[in-house]
Amino acid sequence: MPRRGKPRRRSGRAATIGAVPVQRREAQRLDRQEMLNRVLGRTSPWDMVIIGGGATGVGAAVDAAARGYEILLLEQSDFGKGTSSRSTKLVHGGVRYLEQGNVSLVMEALRERGILRQNAPHLVSDLAFVVPRYDWWEAPFYGVGLKIYDLLAGKYGFGASQLLSREETLARLPTIRREGLRGGVVYYDGQFDDSRLLINLVQTAAEHGATVLNYAPVTQLIKGADGFVQGVVARDLEAGTELRAAARVVINAAGPFCDAIRRMAEPDAVPMIAPSQGVHLVFERSFLPGNSAIMVPHTADGRVMFAIPWHGHTVVGTTDTPITDVSLEPRPLPEEINFVLETAGQYLHHAPGRNDVLSVFVGIRPLVKSGDASSTAALSRDHTIRIDDSGLLTIAGGKWTTYRHMAEDCINQAATWARLPEVPCPTLNLRIHGYADKPPGAGSLASYGSDAAAIEALVKEDASLGRSLHPALTYRGVEVVWAVREEMSRTVEDVLARRTRALFLNARAASEMAPQVAAIMAKELALGDDWKARQVQAFQELASKYLVSPVAGGAMGEPGGES
Ligand SMILES: Cc1cc2nc3c(=O)[nH]c(=O)nc-3n(C[C@H](O)[C@H](O)[C@H](O)COP(=O)(O)OP(=O)(O)OC[C@H]3O[C@@H](n4cnc5c(N)ncnc54)[C@H](O)[C@@H]3O)c2cc1C
Repeated sequence: MPRRGKPRRRSGRAATIGAVPVQRREAQRLDRQEMLNRVLGRTSPWDMVIIGGGATGVGAAVDAAARGYEILLLEQSDFGKGTSSRSTKLVHGGVRYLEQGNVSLVMEALRERGILRQNAPHLVSDLAFVVPRYDWWEAPFYGVGLKIYDLLAGKYGFGASQLLSREETLARLPTIRREGLRGGVVYYDGQFDDSRLLINLVQTAAEHGATVLNYAPVTQLIKGADGFVQGVVARDLEAGTELRAAARVVINAAGPFCDAIRRMAEPDAVPMIAPSQGVHLVFERSFLPGNSAIMVPHTADGRVMFAIPWHGHTVVGTTDTPITDVSLEPRPLPEEINFVLETAGQYLHHAPGRNDVLSVFVGIRPLVKSGDASSTAALSRDHTIRIDDSGLLTIAGGKWTTYRHMAEDCINQAATWARLPEVPCPTLNLRIHGYADKPPGAGSLASYGSDAAAIEALVKEDASLGRSLHPALTYRGVEVVWAVREEMSRTVEDVLARRTRALFLNARAASEMAPQVAAIMAKELALGDDWKARQVQAFQELASKYLVSPVAGGAMGEPGGES
């Protein structure tokens, strides 16, 4: 929240706000050149420039554009390259926060969970989570706790929790460790594909008039004579040229990087982020067959761990390790990998080993600092909005699940600060790109929602695009074409990591797919052999970091004797 006693923003012009739309506008291609032309051709200040193309920044762009404000969003890499493609993929209230007594956060998240399922039914699905019980006290303890969780969800509930017998638990979780198993408790939460939702949100923002540009890092903030931030300098990484954009308010939504942006305005800014990283390991589906997830409420270090079925695989995580340096490609620590493997081994009948890991991915939580928190696991997942003396507005913290509510708060504050005409937030019932009344079944294109039919139509035009790109994964050439033509994919990594999820599901298979993906992209983008070779090499180097070496401290993936 803005602090009292701040200098008042100088008076701004009154933006012309059109009728507030509540439904998605006509689908529109994400065309980078067109977006760039808009930035280059702009002669008046934008109402808002947003720095950061993760859930927070893109959510804010959707909200602001849908209110009719003129928005520019700049992302230094690809949309979703940061934390927002590296989550546990849960749309959840957070059972753990209930245990911490943060009832208001849980209620907010449960409400947002329901809103998100309503507005993006093609991407959010219900998932049953089973808490296995090995001790007598776990039935009353978790049984009552999860009933409270159900009650807090109220009309946004996904299903009632219930106690399971040993047999019912084994029916849902055939691979769970059987020795000492008494039964389980099942409850319901949501699951999603984080980077696909992000791309659909970018499309939604663009359909409401936002200008969105990837591969455009902000390198400087421009200050006026009055000391207030009044724009940004960015770099177009493709052309290597400088971009300047004036703004009535600049919103810093750079996630774990937001202190670096704050220091561009005030070099002595006291850091507000306490970054912490979380690691996930991905295995074959056979480790968790069936349609239920496992939730372990108390690991050896007192955290929660999940094993969830996702895109035909099993994702297990996560950890919470405080770190000092933030990077776009954080690396797993050997002890984090060991910890996830050991915990999985305690609950699964066949303990997974290092050879079973198909991919390891790491994300950084942009947690907001709190003076007395003894560990990052104890830091609040609430979001914080702060306006520095320079007028730079920073929004950080929160969760993917609550991105819409965060955006609403952020744009309310930003509009007030910039003295823009007040417009009510329209996102409560705003359908997200891809919304389909009847999601297109469980086929490989299900998560594209209403776009699935247009993608299939491309295969009818060119049957070669229907061919699978790798026997281990369901992706086809047509998805590469779609990602380039419609979703602003610029690199092989964009396609294999965030438009499809190949890198996160199976790093070796993704690496083997790279030459085919580069060939299809080069044809679409009219680029030559040099580009293809560079792209394949860069992607394969990256993919090697998502592999785990067969022996701890070996040659791949992890730091400490690794690549
Ligand atoms: C391990 C882990 C598991 C999680 N699981 C869940 C979950 O299951 N459910 C849930 O609800 N939440 C989950 N979260 C939380 C959620 O993922 C984050 O809160 C959310 O993704 C943060 O989004 P963000 O936009 O703030 O940050 P980011 O996604 O990191 O986005 C910030 C963006 O800013 C860009 N940027 C930085 N500097 C610049 C610059 N100079 N110019 C332009 N752009 C810049 C970055 O490249 C980046 O893309 C999890 C988090 C972690 C770490």
